[in-house]
Amino acid sequence: MPLLPLLLALWVRAAPSLRGALALVAPVDCAGCGAPDIDLCGRCRARFAAALPRLDALADATPCATGLVYAGSARDAVLAFKDGGRLRLARPLAPPLGRALALLAAEAPDDAHPLVALAVPPSRSGRRRRGCDPVELLLRAAGAVPGRRGLEFLRHGSSAQQKGRGRAERHRSRRLVCSTRWAGRSVVIVDDVMTTGATLTEACRAAREAGARVVGVCALAAVPLSGRS
Ligand SMILES: [Zn+2]
Repeated sequence: MPLLPLLLALWVRAAPSLRGALALVAPVDCAGCGAPDIDLCGRCRARFAAALPRLDALADATPCATGLVYAGSARDAVLAFKDGGRLRLARPLAPPLGRALALLAAEAPDDAHPLVALAVPPSRSGRRRRGCDPVELLLRAAGAVPGRRGLEFLRHGSSAQQKGRGRAERHRSRRLVCSTRWAGRSVVIVDDVMTTGATLTEACRAAREAGARVVGVCALAAVPLSGRS
């Protein structure tokens, strides 16, 4: 046996548990509270599993459901998932999003079903940096994606459409357009984190422009009012 695997095998055997051994090889702390040697501790996992969704509305009265308050351990876990590359967190973060979606679905009129979940895409730089679409991963983990069609529905506006906007404004208010007509279909727009609601409002505009009936918007987590700017 080559030396390195042999050393690793001895090391693992000497460790008090497999988890302890793995933590020695690739140490992680709880993404929510920082407890050592675990991806997400039982307390944080239970907190996300038990979180109650909140129903609110955007400024134009579009119903808006959110799963978590984007603060404390929830904020840390979402950041670890989105920007820290800890994609396995999609599974424990999916239930709050799933419950928020269910809340919206329960409020929707009978003739709005079945609903189509449409994901807000990451910014181009975000997709390049992460190599994935966090909202798509969350929706899949929540079992809310019947096919890819809905996920391809929203895309970024052309550079001509963005022309004339300052850099800060472009960043704040990404223009979204539809690549598919959705006449007569009832949709729910989904994002990971809602700050001011501007992106979700823009997504609603794009969906309605394509003929969709927007039943509501949904986000895994919402920044509390005091943290918005
Ligand atoms: Zn924890």
